[in-house]
Amino acid sequence: MNTLAKRLLAALLISLGLIPSASARLRVTTTTTDLAALAETVGGDRVDVFSLSRPLQDAHYLDATPGMIVRISRSDLFIENGFDLEMGWVPEVLRETRNRNVRSGGPGHVNASNGIQAIQVPERIHRDMGDVHPSGNPHYTLDPIIAQQAARNIADGLIRVDPRHADTYRANLEAFIARSDEVVNEWVARFEPHAGSRLIIYHKHFDYMFERLGLGIADSIEPLPGLAPSARHVAGLIARHTPDTVRMVVMEPWHDQRVGRQVADGIGVPLLILCPTVGSCEGAGDLIGLFETNARKLLELLEAEASE
Ligand SMILES: [Zn+2]
Repeated sequence: MNTLAKRLLAALLISLGLIPSASARLRVTTTTTDLAALAETVGGDRVDVFSLSRPLQDAHYLDATPGMIVRISRSDLFIENGFDLEMGWVPEVLRETRNRNVRSGGPGHVNASNGIQAIQVPERIHRDMGDVHPSGNPHYTLDPIIAQQAARNIADGLIRVDPRHADTYRANLEAFIARSDEVVNEWVARFEPHAGSRLIIYHKHFDYMFERLGLGIADSIEPLPGLAPSARHVAGLIARHTPDTVRMVVMEPWHDQRVGRQVADGIGVPLLILCPTVGSCEGAGDLIGLFETNARKLLELLEAEASE
């Protein structure tokens, strides 16, 4: 093909939306707002990012919709969290899309968990009992240091579909790594006086962050991730713990706060609602902001208790 014909073909493909032009922004679709924020951090002004879930939607429990299929079909890059977080809906959406590039194995598909070692990988899978963490804990984006690997995977994906701007993506990635190292290390130091403090959680959502900050998990209100607590399980938690064994009960806003309150009051410790995702709270505009917002809430309560 001669040069003119090549240019005409490229212009036609661009106008049909089949390949991105040099100046057009990439259309990036993510499953969660956390991944959307990370894609914006790495993609900068080269990307238009859309999250399939809203900030206060629990990504474990979305349903595949025709709108999701259309959205993914028109995307240059699709980013999923992995570790089975989206097992109830993403496989179906990807099966239905006509865009082969964004399917698993395609150049426009990113599993952000590649290269991350999940915590809490179960020895025995309780999927039949409703365990929604059969591959271990999928909520690694709560720790920006672990999310650095997800950011690398996203940068690799962006470079695959848009190699002309590889330097931009690499520079943005390095900036995120440097900033997250700096911010998280500051918070780890501030938590040192409280290292080893133990909490009761509702769902295993914030565990990567707690591990980073040196906090321990004494028990969880859900007997298994995704399994609603029985009255007997709740009574057992209250019987087993005292303010000497746990400092507080921590939970997500989308679980039953009456149960969280019952456990906290029963033990005699405070209940703290943390921000589960980017966009769910003021200040939680990106992954570092989410981490800082939650760390600040935790530290304020730990310090208030210590001074009592
Ligand atoms: Zn979960």
